[in-house]
Amino acid sequence: MIITRPREWDRIIRNLDEIGARKVFIMGCGQCATVARTGGEDELLEAKSKLEEQGREVTGWAVGEVACHSGGTRLEARRNSGSIDDADAVLVLSCGAGVQTVADATNKPVFPGLESAFLGNVVRHGIFEERCQMCGDCVLDVTAGICPVTTCPKGLLNGPCGGMWAGMCEVLTDHECAHVRIRRRLAEQGRIAAQGIVPPKDFSAKLKPGSVNLRQGRERGRKRDSDIGEAGR
Ligand code: SF4
Ligand code: SF4
Repeated sequence: MIITRPREWDRIIRNLDEIGARKVFIMGCGQCATVARTGGEDELLEAKSKLEEQGREVTGWAVGEVACHSGGTRLEARRNSGSIDDADAVLVLSCGAGVQTVADATNKPVFPGLESAFLGNVVRHGIFEERCQMCGDCVLDVTAGICPVTTCPKGLLNGPCGGMWAGMCEVLTDHECAHVRIRRRLAEQGRIAAQGIVPPKDFSAKLKPGSVNLRQGRERGRKRDSDIGEAGR
């Protein structure tokens, strides 16, 4: 899921002041931002109170099913068209993808109310960790299922670096070095002897903006495996 955190409130207020917005509609997201407790019903009501305390009118609010779903968000905007029309601006408590989806669904100025932090694993309720940066050229097959791109702060494909000390990371000193973990797991699985140097990544595999069209069977920016080959990985 996409992990979001609250955006600096002063910046939101500056955004609203810059266009003289006194009346605001607030949109949230029923999926990731609700689970992350940044853009669900409680957080929208909190934002509403803060805006009202500062003398602004909240014309309405809605937590759609999934903010980044174009069809659903357009439907939500239509359902709330009166309150959105009354507003000078829409504040969106969702990830950046959701903010853009709302911006496409209304002609009102739209402002983000959250920062999009990372794609996160839910480790336990309320605890999220980044495990994948969606690099488009996954190396988990040769790193025993531990992502060095994400879990090594330097993103090194081969390690440990010279700063590793007694198995611990020199950057995140309370964490075990990702490459120590990778090597231990490979050894436990009897795969260490076969482990060579992981070749440089093919960053062209992550062409932006990503796009998948299942109807036409196309993914923008992804080379065919036959184009990539072993040596080019
Ligand atoms: S190697 Fe790339 S795709 Fe695989 S887990 Fe790491 S960031 Fe994600
Ligand atoms: S100590 Fe290990 S995890 Fe930390 S930066 Fe160096 S290689 Fe990466």
